[in-house]
Amino acid sequence: MSRPVPAVFGSVFHAQMPVIAFQDGAWQPVRWQSSQDLTLPAGAHALHYGSECFEGLKAFRQANGKIVMFRPTENIKRMQQSAEILSLPKPETEPFLAALVELVKRAADEIPDAPASLYLRPTLIGTDPVIGKAGAPSETALLYILASPVGDYFKAGSPVKILVETEHIRCAPHMGRVKCGGNYASAMPWILKAKAEHGASQVLFCPNGDVQETGASNFMVINGDEIVTKPLTDEFLHGVTRQSVLTVAADLGYRISERNFTVDELKAMVENGAEAILTGTAAVISPITSFVIDGKEIEVKSQERGYAIRKAVTDIQFGLAEDKYGWLVEVC
Ligand SMILES: *Cc1c(COP(=O)(O)O)cnc(C)c1O
Repeated sequence: MSRPVPAVFGSVFHAQMPVIAFQDGAWQPVRWQSSQDLTLPAGAHALHYGSECFEGLKAFRQANGKIVMFRPTENIKRMQQSAEILSLPKPETEPFLAALVELVKRAADEIPDAPASLYLRPTLIGTDPVIGKAGAPSETALLYILASPVGDYFKAGSPVKILVETEHIRCAPHMGRVKCGGNYASAMPWILKAKAEHGASQVLFCPNGDVQETGASNFMVINGDEIVTKPLTDEFLHGVTRQSVLTVAADLGYRISERNFTVDELKAMVENGAEAILTGTAAVISPITSFVIDGKEIEVKSQERGYAIRKAVTDIQFGLAEDKYGWLVEVC
């Protein structure tokens, strides 16, 4: 059976989606409805005051035909943390996981073969229809999950040019670890500016020289046998891929240095031959090909180590290497 890969990432959805409502102080049983439209009150809290957060994870068709999800409980935990910080009702782990499993089962026939996959997008929104609640949390909410067959986001050999931004921040510092749409809106002006003025594909946010992350991915330097990345703080998103890559890389013999570092250090490392990568669910690892620092383009000389670590992670996802960390949840 041929399973088509949509041309545009995230543009096609499985016909149905699970919806779990929070009302009268409790989470309700899951309902299944069309994923085409969602009817909301025009005054819904999320639409006015940004009470929204989301997640992104994937399910894979393995070589032996099994369908697996990658570390779904990590995404559930992170959404619970986002909900807490946004004063949204906290989703319950068991029904959330059950809805993910059931959705992947129902969409199983639509999951393309490797290296494509099924991208899952849990979304949590505050739905109180009261525009007077600017300073009060929503007491009702919806959790729904979209499933989208996606091609390989990763394009080997394509240029990844990163503008190093030292003046502006991606989002308010206390919001960095919240996976919410508001943070993306906050970063948009700098990303559009970087594209227009430098042809950059992304912006690396480094307020006052502190190297943090890009608009949608975590950032690491592979400096010989050492991997350097910022330690977890409230200021940036704690990626599941970041943690997975660090685990796999340590096993491959890399020294992991979670420490703060500056743009000057980054520049010196890259000029001395270090590699640099972005990590995130969509592409796993994207090796960077050049940086723009203070208006000057600096080439990253090699991408080899990044590719090798990427393969070690995707081999686990597609069942080509042993799942020795217990990261996969078998669906069917
Ligand atoms: C989602 C996201 C990441 C990557 O997280 P993963 O769990 O690895 O997909 C990194 N930075 C930002 C801002 C994100 O929203």
